[in-house]
Amino acid sequence: MNLLLTGGTGFIGRALVKALIDRGDHVIVLSRRPHESVKGVQYVQRLTDIPMDQTLDAVINLAGEPILDQRWSASHKQLLRESRIKTTASLVEWLRGLERKPEVLVSGSAIGFYGSQEDVLISEDSAVVKGFTHQLCADWEAEALAAESLGIRVCLARTGVVIGPNGGALAKMILPFKLGLGGPVATGKQWMSWIHLQDEVKALLYLVDHCEVRGAFNLTAPNPVTNNVFSKTLAQALHRPALFRVPEFTLAVMLGEGRELLVKGQRVVPTRLTSLGFVFDYPDLQGAIKASL
Ligand code: NDP
Repeated sequence: MNLLLTGGTGFIGRALVKALIDRGDHVIVLSRRPHESVKGVQYVQRLTDIPMDQTLDAVINLAGEPILDQRWSASHKQLLRESRIKTTASLVEWLRGLERKPEVLVSGSAIGFYGSQEDVLISEDSAVVKGFTHQLCADWEAEALAAESLGIRVCLARTGVVIGPNGGALAKMILPFKLGLGGPVATGKQWMSWIHLQDEVKALLYLVDHCEVRGAFNLTAPNPVTNNVFSKTLAQALHRPALFRVPEFTLAVMLGEGRELLVKGQRVVPTRLTSLGFVFDYPDLQGAIKASL
């Protein structure tokens, strides 16, 4: 299979590229920086570097400015939006000119689509709570869905907190836990809808490979946990205590409005994947954390 991948240099993208090479696919990765192409992977810096008669079977679109790397100033919020929405719009515009269209576009989104809903169990059909993250995801998804008018099947990957080795959310939170200084965030009662990196990649490939599926899918493990349980499970796996609560005001200083993602949380379940018989390799947090350390 020939695939084009945006965000292929990121935490999820790197694991996805490896999985694609392992199964014998050929990948073109669009990246803002130059990279040396290796067997099975060609890097390009502009879509215009790809010939318009290129045969592509699938496109996976994951590019976007990291969400929680810095404080959400007005200009950073604009960058969060533009790096996803404009990039996706340009991608679909480029697909319009491609001689032979790919069968499918799998495009990134996040469980932030649903907004913060406390203890409510959220499936793909749930109502949304409007706010910045909902609008960001909704606009990002809308640009991707425009590819349907080109006869391309579109799947939207509403991803939860991805945990895995060598990066992602766990890499950001692990140091205080290793030092015995870790603990829950704010009240710890907020839900965390997580997914192991291996299942994230498996689900993205499932959406590529199953030509009968389209639309939005929650990419989260079937067993979300509260932040208290997450912290305790991580601390236990490291044989450390989880005594030191991170107060909300600390996050407010560091992230501004972005703290809401950590303080409010969401209880999301992968209803559509589960009903299709998708099997998670890591349905429970303990195993997922153990496989990520
Ligand atoms: P990373 O931050 O690890 O990688 C993001 C990728 O996007 C990089 O490969 C980078 O490519 C590209 N990128 C970064 N900033 C910009 C920018 N300003 N403009 C254009 N491209 C940019 O992300 P993840 O792999 O963790 O996540 C992939 C996608 O999935 C993201 O869109 C993210 O929002 C979404 N997601 C991730 C979750 C997670 O827990 N990891 C949770 C929910 C959603 P390059 O530098 O090569 O150009």
